[in-house]
Amino acid sequence: MAEQVFHHPDIYRIDVPLTGNPLKNLNSYVIKDQGESMVIDTGFRNEECLKVLMKGLQELGISPERTNLFVTHLHSDHIGLAQYFDYPDTKIYMGQRESYYFRKLLYGKVREERARLYVAEGYPKEKYYESDHRNPARIFMPNQEFFVTEITDGARIRIGNVEVTALEMPGHTPGLMCCYLEKEKVMFTTDHVLFDITPNITNWLGMEEPLGCYLKNLDRILEYEVLHTFPAHRNLSDKTLQQRVEEIKRHHRIRLEEIRKGKGEVIREERETDRGIQHFYILK
Ligand SMILES: [Zn+2]
Repeated sequence: MAEQVFHHPDIYRIDVPLTGNPLKNLNSYVIKDQGESMVIDTGFRNEECLKVLMKGLQELGISPERTNLFVTHLHSDHIGLAQYFDYPDTKIYMGQRESYYFRKLLYGKVREERARLYVAEGYPKEKYYESDHRNPARIFMPNQEFFVTEITDGARIRIGNVEVTALEMPGHTPGLMCCYLEKEKVMFTTDHVLFDITPNITNWLGMEEPLGCYLKNLDRILEYEVLHTFPAHRNLSDKTLQQRVEEIKRHHRIRLEEIRKGKGEVIREERETDRGIQHFYILK
């Protein structure tokens, strides 16, 4: 179901379920103005997500043949269904840097590079591939090419009378982009700032110090005047963007301090999950 979350311009949220995944849902947003529209992020490439997203769009009188799509980053829960929006009269926007990494991911190159890194640090090769095969990021990613309109930091996109500025905020991924409506002071934070959970940071070849980069961009997002924040997962929050950024920064300071002091103890736990017994390594 499409729920209106903002007026002037009309912004809707389609709550796309990510069944069996700890993220629980993906908030797909739709900006609609003067008969034009743009969807922000899609959900996984699976039957359930496709059904819910298309039903939500239908309720809003939008067909994928006539709407633009903005993919904030390459993770499957955001880009999974992008191929269903590839039509001659539509555009699929994506950051240039992110698009480069996405193509590497699509052709299996990131997996090979990651495997080499893991193995070099002592992780058993077979285990890496075993868990990779079960990884929803891999299973639910797009399975065919689609045409991308690549954009860079600061690019402006018009939907009717609405102006959206794309802001590159690397950290969670190498070229993640947030969408900003300057006039309305609306920020779509995607996975850069989440409210109920903390965005994960992983390493990418060619990206130096992802955590440092992430923290720098947490500061950068506060340079914009924001009154309404729309994150990509879970619930919308009454907290301000500034409050949440401070909380996330504090969280990282505490964790880094624990590691620096060597007090952290890594504990291996077996947990029953929807995908069977999984092993978790937890820093206590
Ligand atoms: Zn993500």
